[in-house]
Amino acid sequence: MAAKRIAVLGFSLESNRFAPPCGEADFRERSFLVGEEICLDARAEHPAHDLSLTGFYADMDAACGGAAGWQAVPIRFIASMPAGPVEEAFFKDFLENCRRDLAAAQPVDGVYICEHGGAIATHTHDPDGDMFTMVREVVGPAVPIVATLDLHCNISDEMEEAVDLMIGYRTNPHVDLYERGVEAAGALREMMAGLRPKSYRVRLPLVAPSVTQLTADGYPYGDLIKRGQAMIDEEIMNVSAVTGFAFADTPKNGLTVVVTARHDVARAKQVAIELAESAWRDRERYRPRMISVEEAAAKACAVGADASAPALLFADPADNPGGGGRGNTTYILAAFHAAGVTGCALSPFFDAPLVARAMAAGEGAVIEAAFNTGETQELSLPFTAEARVRGLFDGSFIGTQGMAAGKSMNTGPTAVLEVGGVTVVVVSQRQQALSSDYFSVFGIDPTAMRSLVVKSRGHFRAGFSHLFDPARIHEVDVLGLTSPVLARFDWRYLPRPVFPLDEDATWSPPM
Ligand SMILES: [Zn+2]
Repeated sequence: MAAKRIAVLGFSLESNRFAPPCGEADFRERSFLVGEEICLDARAEHPAHDLSLTGFYADMDAACGGAAGWQAVPIRFIASMPAGPVEEAFFKDFLENCRRDLAAAQPVDGVYICEHGGAIATHTHDPDGDMFTMVREVVGPAVPIVATLDLHCNISDEMEEAVDLMIGYRTNPHVDLYERGVEAAGALREMMAGLRPKSYRVRLPLVAPSVTQLTADGYPYGDLIKRGQAMIDEEIMNVSAVTGFAFADTPKNGLTVVVTARHDVARAKQVAIELAESAWRDRERYRPRMISVEEAAAKACAVGADASAPALLFADPADNPGGGGRGNTTYILAAFHAAGVTGCALSPFFDAPLVARAMAAGEGAVIEAAFNTGETQELSLPFTAEARVRGLFDGSFIGTQGMAAGKSMNTGPTAVLEVGGVTVVVVSQRQQALSSDYFSVFGIDPTAMRSLVVKSRGHFRAGFSHLFDPARIHEVDVLGLTSPVLARFDWRYLPRPVFPLDEDATWSPPM
């Protein structure tokens, strides 16, 4: 039997409607893979790109007796750090390039789409739907297509109609990308052998604030995932319960359950509705619990002055670069500096012009550190203080913890500044603190600090769990493009009423 030919492609962007649009430069900074480059990174010892690709390739290689046992047909894969809507011209260009390359590669036996699913474009709410539809148009109705999706995806009718199986992540922080790629490979092999699975989807008027979507014990979303996975059996192939991404602000927002059965769509429907009903019953638990920046500063001062007190970690979920935040608001930095906090380190702060000035001044120099001189986003306020340049770095490293473990990472040129009692890691490539590596590789021993501040909503938790138990982690309520306080945003497209924004939101299961 001839080796199966499987096309691999994907578009990965989580769009925040309130953040500045993104284009080619944003994708080139993170992932811009054409053809063979996809295979090379997927099979690399320390991949720099999407670990779902790595899992997919590893499982195909293992099941087919090596890379020669199947034929990867790599098309294109691009990803940006979460940002605003993708620019129309760039996206259409990407889509046309994919269409041309995929058409030229025909015939194929199957397709794997490695997608995020939470994108919007400047011209449409649903670029992911355009992507999936394009793939179906090119390969025709008979070729199986499987897609993996971030659990922050917003699923449209077009997405569901175009592909045979959608597989959502089950962990938040997302530590199962590799496993979902493996699952996609196994499912695609079943489908290439003749299986045609059937899905049923339910969307709830429930847009959960970001910090309530953790899958750890004690969180409602973790309970939902567990209930869903317990329903998998011989017939039920996949249960994906995705929270969606609120800040995309689209008509397709809302916690969504997709259940795929091998044969029996009635079973899929029954399981999907049962799970959706349980999520809706649990809706009161999706409320954020944060502390004020004043309270955070007081706590940081207290542990700074008491070496016997357990160290604390403060997260800034409102300025999460992993959700389109700029990674450079100064509310916590300014408050901690004004309060005289000591023994504290903050990472990462996105400010390329400030890194350049620190590099020009050199290690050991004392400079007037002006933050956000190059930034135009109105919530990214300027802040100026005297600072000592403690260290300068090129920003490339291999991660060791959490979502960064084993991956090739890059923060771009990076400067470590001592700003009073707060040591700040200033980076040139916008991103969140995925792990303690974001301190340690820049010469800061995280275990020696009295408190840490991270620009991250929740993914940091997987990369700091070896240092901080959840009781010593506080989410700080400040302004930002990714604030969990949803009432602060001027929503335009979200279907209303929606819980918890609207207490009067109602839902009843489909007949
Ligand atoms: Zn996500």
